[in-house]
Amino acid sequence: MRILIVEDTARLSALLAEALAKHGFASDCAPTLAAADEAIAVASYDAIVLDLGLPDGDGLHWLDRRRSAPLPPVLALTARGTLAERVAGLDAGVDDYLTKPFAADEVAARLRALLRRPGPRAAPILAAGPISLDVAARRATVDGAALEISRRELDLLEVLLRRAGSVVSKDAIETALYSFDAEVTPNAVEAIVSRLRKHLDEAGVTGALHTIRGVGYLLEDRS
Ligand code: CA
Repeated sequence: MRILIVEDTARLSALLAEALAKHGFASDCAPTLAAADEAIAVASYDAIVLDLGLPDGDGLHWLDRRRSAPLPPVLALTARGTLAERVAGLDAGVDDYLTKPFAADEVAARLRALLRRPGPRAAPILAAGPISLDVAARRATVDGAALEISRRELDLLEVLLRRAGSVVSKDAIETALYSFDAEVTPNAVEAIVSRLRKHLDEAGVTGALHTIRGVGYLLEDRS
């Protein structure tokens, strides 16, 4: 389970990420709404923990702006505790609400409850030509045959499939594959790209994954 924590107080998001890790959640932290947009563009999250007062805007307005595209469940964390404010949050698409100060264990419990809820937010099947990926099941296939690849290679494939036909920068891939604070060796992304390319070649999708020198990587959409 991967959670995006959108919170501008670095100490708070770090504490929360640490606490959630103990409950089996991997978290990325975005300190601004712009950073949240970037993270969502390249990675898929099971839930979002959203502070409402961010340096570049209001979390509720952001939710409203993003309404057209499906978002994972949202747990709002906020100092705004009045009833009217809570109602406004629920109207804006917040799935649950916690008022600061809160216990990290309660955040984990609320997240588990949100993730158990059935809903219309089923993760999609991403596809480009013969390649497809069931995002929720973490299962990739080529022409219906299972593609046996590592978790990181699956993550990479997901990023490339989400932007099939467009160049994805190496930075964007790095952000999607690793927690923001992870130490990543300079050629880590290249190594994963080359392993994925080899798997795709072996599965008969030859020459679909391109390196655009100095820019990034592109997965052809042969649909
Ligand atoms: Ca804040």
